[in-house]
Amino acid sequence: MTTKQAVPTVTLNDGKTIPQLGFGVFQIEPENTLEATLAALEVGYRHLDTAEMYGNEKEVGQAVEQSGIPRSEIFVTSKLNNPFHAPEDALEQGKKSAELLGGYTDLFLIHWPIASVIDFVPTWKSLEELYHQGVSRSIGTSNFHAHHLNKLRDQTTITPAVNQIEVHPYLAQEELRAYGREHGIATEAWSPIAQGLVLDDPTIVRIAGAVGKSPAQVTLRWHIQRGDIIFPKSVTRSRIEENFDIFDFELSGEDMTDITTLDKGQRTGPDPDKFDYVPA
Ligand code: NDP
Repeated sequence: MTTKQAVPTVTLNDGKTIPQLGFGVFQIEPENTLEATLAALEVGYRHLDTAEMYGNEKEVGQAVEQSGIPRSEIFVTSKLNNPFHAPEDALEQGKKSAELLGGYTDLFLIHWPIASVIDFVPTWKSLEELYHQGVSRSIGTSNFHAHHLNKLRDQTTITPAVNQIEVHPYLAQEELRAYGREHGIATEAWSPIAQGLVLDDPTIVRIAGAVGKSPAQVTLRWHIQRGDIIFPKSVTRSRIEENFDIFDFELSGEDMTDITTLDKGQRTGPDPDKFDYVPA
């Protein structure tokens, strides 16, 4: 059984609110995106996380429209792809994403800093413009380290509302999350179950057995109790439901610590300082 009203919200530094649990669509083929996203909306998710890079913004927009749920009740995030960091391109892409996603984005992010390729400060200024124009209601960063965020703080006006980074029990990101708390930047945790990697972990399996939930539910609950924003991905209806059903139990302080201490600095994706991929 899922409880549709139970998802908490997080208030961002610009006053907007975002559901703490959403649905991610990375690696969902465009032809499967409509069905998966409609399933998520039917289950009760009201927050969708897509990106130009995923090639499925259009289908996410179609799902929002076909769901019959008012656009204003769904929080939709998209991200600026790496080839479009030139300021004019960023403005154009921000508008394109907005058009595909119901006239505006709730949140638009710089997907990767790609600092070795192009300075992201002018790119961020374009996002500031998109914010002022109402094209995106909030703006933020993704895969930014503290040193990238410090540069924005020194050279730009708007503090990112969120920083979306890889976080899961094997990469707990305590320092960068603390930086976010200190500077009013909400942390969004991508790959919250490490694409399934943590689900066989003996500690997580033990806690799951003790609380009568699945390893995925325990891991997602750990994120929720830490205060991070998450959007697990699945194309499987039963898992879409399972991942939503995490608000009827609580992990003890001891369980929380046991999971956090699994941290071994293990990334499933690239280190943002070493990632400079720009497709032709
Ligand atoms: P997740 O950690 O959400 O894991 C998804 C994988 O786990 C899929 O293979 C899925 O399988 C499986 N799965 C989902 N739920 C369960 C479950 N309950 N039990 C067992 N297996 C399960 O990985 P993602 O990388 O997709 O991350 C989530 C979202 O984060 C993305 O969709 C995207 O929105 C965002 N993201 C952002 C990035 C960035 O650079 N900003 C990078 C990566 C992700 P199946 O679908 O077959 O059911």
